[in-house]
Amino acid sequence: MRFDAVPMPPTVEGRPRDERGYPVPAITPWEGDEPRFALTDYARSADCARERRCSVCDVLIPRGPVWRVVGAAESAAIGEALAAGRPYRNLTPTLEGPGHRACMLYASMVCPYLARPNARRGLGAERPDDLTSHVVRGAARGSLGAVVGFADYEFAVTADQVLFRFLDPVEFLPHDTADAHLDELRAELAARRG
Ligand SMILES: [Zn+2]
Repeated sequence: MRFDAVPMPPTVEGRPRDERGYPVPAITPWEGDEPRFALTDYARSADCARERRCSVCDVLIPRGPVWRVVGAAESAAIGEALAAGRPYRNLTPTLEGPGHRACMLYASMVCPYLARPNARRGLGAERPDDLTSHVVRGAARGSLGAVVGFADYEFAVTADQVLFRFLDPVEFLPHDTADAHLDELRAELAARRG
């Protein structure tokens, strides 16, 4: 969706913008005046991980669950685990850090690089599409991916990557269309405004 057709969380409004007015996520590297949306900045990602800041808006994530956008393969795997009552944790770490619920609902609709793990360059650590392709073929819902809340996450800052693992899904919001979470986002923003 066009980013200006989606209500923007207040914490995202303060982000720097590119020349189109598109808000630049906290973990996006810059080359001069140009944000590189397809990439994840090592130092920015490490700072967010260590200080529990949202990878989209750069603001502290309160104690409690964290959210991220997952791609089709991981969405299918989580959906199947939840349906079967099995615990789920992603076995391969990801470079995608956690964020606020509102920020991830927003990002799932406006960010072309989220929810497509192989869209980012240098993603040697994450290959869920290979691992779970057999699951995807049977998935009826969430063909594009999902916004997922997790009870907790772990991270490791290696010499050249920041890797995340997410544990214990507490909310599962699959999407089949780009605008699937508009109502959920509006409700979340209204609730935050009190
Ligand atoms: Zn945020």
